[in-house]
Amino acid sequence: MNVADALKILGLDKNPSPSQLKSAYKKLALEFHPDRNPGDPEAEKRFKEIVIAHETLQNPKRSATRATPRGRKSARQRGEYEELWEDIFSHIFKNAREPADEDKVASLDLHAQVEVTLEELTRDSEKDVAVSRRVRCASCGGRGSEAGARRSACPACKGAGEVRYRQGLAELWIPCSACDGSGEHAGETCRDCAGGGVTNRRENLRVAVPAAIKEGAQIRIKGKGDEDARAGEAGDLIVTVRANPHPVFRREGNDVVLDLPVSFSQAALGHEALVPTLKGAQKIKIPAGTQSGREFRLKGEGLSPAGGRNTGDMRVRVIVETPTKLGERQREILDEFQRISSPANHPKARAFQEKMKSLLK
Ligand SMILES: [Zn+2]
Ligand SMILES: [Zn+2]
Repeated sequence: MNVADALKILGLDKNPSPSQLKSAYKKLALEFHPDRNPGDPEAEKRFKEIVIAHETLQNPKRSATRATPRGRKSARQRGEYEELWEDIFSHIFKNAREPADEDKVASLDLHAQVEVTLEELTRDSEKDVAVSRRVRCASCGGRGSEAGARRSACPACKGAGEVRYRQGLAELWIPCSACDGSGEHAGETCRDCAGGGVTNRRENLRVAVPAAIKEGAQIRIKGKGDEDARAGEAGDLIVTVRANPHPVFRREGNDVVLDLPVSFSQAALGHEALVPTLKGAQKIKIPAGTQSGREFRLKGEGLSPAGGRNTGDMRVRVIVETPTKLGERQREILDEFQRISSPANHPKARAFQEKMKSLLK
């Protein structure tokens, strides 16, 4: 690398002062430092150029002076240096990659459940969910160090602000990424977060549950997952909707189904029944001769999703109950009823008898 290229890479004018060179180098080397760009080949390339540019400007004559005693051209030794530098770089990049790969696996998203009743699903509602989330530590503001603690020498670079790598005759100085090249350690480790910058906090979070939302649906609340104070980012809270079973109603799509038991005499004679709906009790007329399993539909009394489209119905399904534990008098009456019944009273039974006859012929 020649001096002109090196100046261009570091963004410097001709003949920079040592302090200009140092500060330009520090800023760029930290920006493209492999610790901060793990596994980024573009950043690795820039980083190498920056380090070599700095090396070239710091020691513009080094290759030449070392080459002269034996009267050789410097090109060969330059090549040797570059090989040694490559060894140093591969060591730095390998160190940067290994811890970062482990961190990446952990997701910041949190999961929770919210239980809703059928009544709550008739309208948009709000529910509280209790979650334990990792949030920025209040004691240290996420820095991981005690506020006001005395600054001490950075343990990674022993206060130098730079780390020196040596391989044979080659030596490279890289700004320390642990302390931003300052050489200072950011004080004592915060007791509340053990230096991690985040603490666990139980929080009640309000979740908006839309009307008629489906069982198992997921509601995502942006930014309410775990926080990563260092990276300044937060995951999402993902809330799964669980429907509480209702004592009498059953949900089918947006319809609400109710099984209504009626006595066989009510079904035969006709009956006016008071049935519950999601909006209060309502009377329905069960006409004389109603068969078991017949459904009565109350239009629009089901669930209504936002926008009012696809509103469901309430379906009342009649279940005719056969009487049990008959008293003597009841038995007499039913005996008599049976005697005076005609086939016309039971058209289904009659049709069945006819089929039987033809089968058994
Ligand atoms: Zn803390
Ligand atoms: Zn340091």
